[in-house]
Amino acid sequence: TGIVVAVDGTSGSGKSSTCRAVASRLGLRYLDTGAMYRAMTWWILEQGIDVHEASTVAARSGEPQIVSGTDPSGPTIHVDGRDVGVEIRSDRVTGAVSPVSTVPEVRARLVDLQRAEIAAGLQGAGIVVEGRDIGSVVAPEAPVKLYLTADPAARAARRAAEEGGSDVAATEQSLRSRDAIDSGRAVSPLTMAEGAVHLDTTSYTLEEVVDQVVALVEA
Ligand code: C5P
Repeated sequence: TGIVVAVDGTSGSGKSSTCRAVASRLGLRYLDTGAMYRAMTWWILEQGIDVHEASTVAARSGEPQIVSGTDPSGPTIHVDGRDVGVEIRSDRVTGAVSPVSTVPEVRARLVDLQRAEIAAGLQGAGIVVEGRDIGSVVAPEAPVKLYLTADPAARAARRAAEEGGSDVAATEQSLRSRDAIDSGRAVSPLTMAEGAVHLDTTSYTLEEVVDQVVALVEA
């Protein structure tokens, strides 16, 4: 039976690149739960719903069909059959995802979907799951849990480069405010899970971080 690797941490800590590379190296599936919160947010915006109206967001959150493709070499995300992989990375979605993901009904729905993907992954070699609350809420029984962080300035430089040379100071501001909301909310997803290994990626290359994570999984 397969293994679950739970990877939580701040935005821009190199989580996605790390998780995809680890999953590819070990022949595991890969689930990006942030993409699912972004997909829900994209759909809410598409419906013309005000993301700050929590009761409406809650009431409608069961409607969209959100499907994750878990191949680490080409993860996908579909909403009602439409590929929204590009749309969910827009500034509009990024700016609206925090309030949507504070709604308990949204979290409950997505956590159910995430657990179903984990169960499917466990039919094979296993799955690497990245997010904010994976080790604490979604898969507290995961045998390997990581908590990745990086210095905010380093994170901003990395994210700005990923986004094709956008403004570093503005990116740093956006990351800081998203982390503040993510860790300050009532249902706080961003907490270091019990038993998690904390890895500060600031001074390591992706390759070095991947090696460390693979070593932990194989230990
Ligand atoms: O990982 P990413 O930056 O794409 O996540 C986008 C947003 O989705 C986060 O800022 C957070 O508000 C939310 N999220 C969450 N729980 C998760 C994953 C993401 O609340 N497990």
